[in-house]
Amino acid sequence: MNHQERKAEAMLNGRVTSMTKSCPLATTDVHENIKNRNWTIDEFGYGPMNPGVEDKEFWQAKADIFNTSVEIAKTARCGNCAAFDQTWKIMCCIGKGINERDTVADPAQVIMNGNLGYCQLFKFKCAGDRTCDAWVHGGPIRDENSPDLPVDTGEDADEMSNEMDSVIDELHGASSKHKKQAERLTRLKGMM
Ligand code: SF4
Repeated sequence: MNHQERKAEAMLNGRVTSMTKSCPLATTDVHENIKNRNWTIDEFGYGPMNPGVEDKEFWQAKADIFNTSVEIAKTARCGNCAAFDQTWKIMCCIGKGINERDTVADPAQVIMNGNLGYCQLFKFKCAGDRTCDAWVHGGPIRDENSPDLPVDTGEDADEMSNEMDSVIDELHGASSKHKKQAERLTRLKGMM
């Protein structure tokens, strides 16, 4: 079986059967994973809990540590941390762990949705959109068989936000109809 076929078996149809002998314990043992994750939350501020929701307090605290702006702090995530391991072997281990616990869940879908990887510093499965105080520049760790998962640095969101600001400015300078659109756009942006 070649690499692509192995990848398809493990990542797409959820039947992970052939595995390397030594998976990190936390990839297959949910209790070990949660123990290490919670320790990282307590000791190194791992989070935010829901990366899909704006959490100003969380990101301001991270910005304060490096004496930088929130925008810059948001670019330092697990997804581009040097301890974030998304090598083929690790992804198979994570897929195997999901598969063993729940035969209904599609491991590939869970991994893709969460942009999951394995933190080699704190030994737990972490999400690419989160971060912690020990973030290390230069990641992630990948190899030629790593799945094509996004490296989210928050830059796309920032770019989009800046562009929306510029459109809002232009609309404010136009007719009253356009001003209403500007207000609406501002409200929508606030909800992002
Ligand atoms: S060390 Fe890196 S990969 Fe591990 S939790 Fe912190 S930011 Fe994420």
